[in-house]
Amino acid sequence: MYQAPRGTKDILPQEQAYWRYVEAKASAICQLCGYERIDTPAFEDAGLFTRSVGQGTDIVDKEMYTFQDRGGGKMALTPEGTAPVCRAYIEHGLSNKPQPVRLYYLTSIFRYGRPQAGRYRQHYQFGLEAIGDADPALDAEVIDMARQFYLSLGLEGFSLQLNSIGCKICRPAYLDSLTSYYADRTSHLCPDCRRRLERNPLRLLDCKRPSCQEVAEATPRSIDHLCSGCERHWQRLKAYLALLDLPHEVNHRLVRGLDYYTRTVFEVQIGEGAQSALGGGGRYDDLIEELGGKPTPAIGFAAGMERIILNLKKQGVPVPALSQPEVFVAYAGDKAKEAAIKLMAGLRQAEMATIAALGDKSLKAQLRQANALGVGRVVIVGEEEAARDTVVLRDMASGQQREVPSRSLVAELKSVSL
Ligand code: AMP
Repeated sequence: MYQAPRGTKDILPQEQAYWRYVEAKASAICQLCGYERIDTPAFEDAGLFTRSVGQGTDIVDKEMYTFQDRGGGKMALTPEGTAPVCRAYIEHGLSNKPQPVRLYYLTSIFRYGRPQAGRYRQHYQFGLEAIGDADPALDAEVIDMARQFYLSLGLEGFSLQLNSIGCKICRPAYLDSLTSYYADRTSHLCPDCRRRLERNPLRLLDCKRPSCQEVAEATPRSIDHLCSGCERHWQRLKAYLALLDLPHEVNHRLVRGLDYYTRTVFEVQIGEGAQSALGGGGRYDDLIEELGGKPTPAIGFAAGMERIILNLKKQGVPVPALSQPEVFVAYAGDKAKEAAIKLMAGLRQAEMATIAALGDKSLKAQLRQANALGVGRVVIVGEEEAARDTVVLRDMASGQQREVPSRSLVAELKSVSL
């Protein structure tokens, strides 16, 4: 027996109301703030991610689904959403549009991690990118959108963590001080962190192992090593967040798992534990240039859909039910079946959502099915009605029914109830 691959899951019809709800809220906040939708392919040249996310990151080193296609190209299923959007920005000359270009996406993300609750090998992200301006007011806009998005969903109890990790001017000196701090403490570090110390010392700060966390407590802080440009940006950002009354905590150990971030990084967290990140983002002022475009500052944010839905359920947030068929067509007899099939087509043409059991069930079984599906109105065609060109219209709640001519059925259904 085949099963969905480990770390993936089917989204069954009964789950869809949650998904449509979250997608609708995502589109709504984007529309409100002037962000336009973009869709990029499910796979890209693997080099796009090695170049942007960075060698030495878990995503590239351990989690990327890479494969060689039949033409010999090395491809990767998208392990994150920002690099493809930047690739599209460069490829389609979006720098010629008024800046910043504001885009959003809803897409599948593939990462070969260890599956656990809230962590999948294929998950979905809602993400947004504002490309083409270095104004810290844009950082504040994106952070505020993240917050408004979660609020609009009805989620409570999330917090916003914020940090600045500097830029290519000030980061080297910070990394030096970080490396020398850790160099004296390697015996307390996990094997992964000892490796990271060589390749990617920033990542030592967010290791989840208790022993590494203890060492990280007293590390030098990036915000104490900012160059004047980064310092000004950081101060302005904090002023804008204050202007917006946007609650946040500065977290010196927040670095994020991708190499392309500069200056602002932020994360939205809920509850405790390894799966507490609801979403995150930051500035990536060098990425577009790194990918072959002109120097173009930008900032983005991405939210994990599964974790949102997990928390909506946990918090008992009600979501609107999806619309059901309005009419169920039932029949008894061969002639009646033909009349029913025609009727059903006519109702659908009149844009009334209509369903029938089809098959050879008894009339009683068909009515039971209409009831189980929660369809309020049933159109019944028997042999006699078929001969007379009429139908019986039944209201399932009251059990009342009456005969109406087939040709006036649509008008009857569209007028008030029975
Ligand atoms: P990232 O691209 O790692 O910043 O992820 C953005 C958001 O996607 C995270 O904050 C999580 O909510 C969610 N996320 C990341 N990885 C996974 C995963 N493997 N399974 C489910 N959700 C994830």
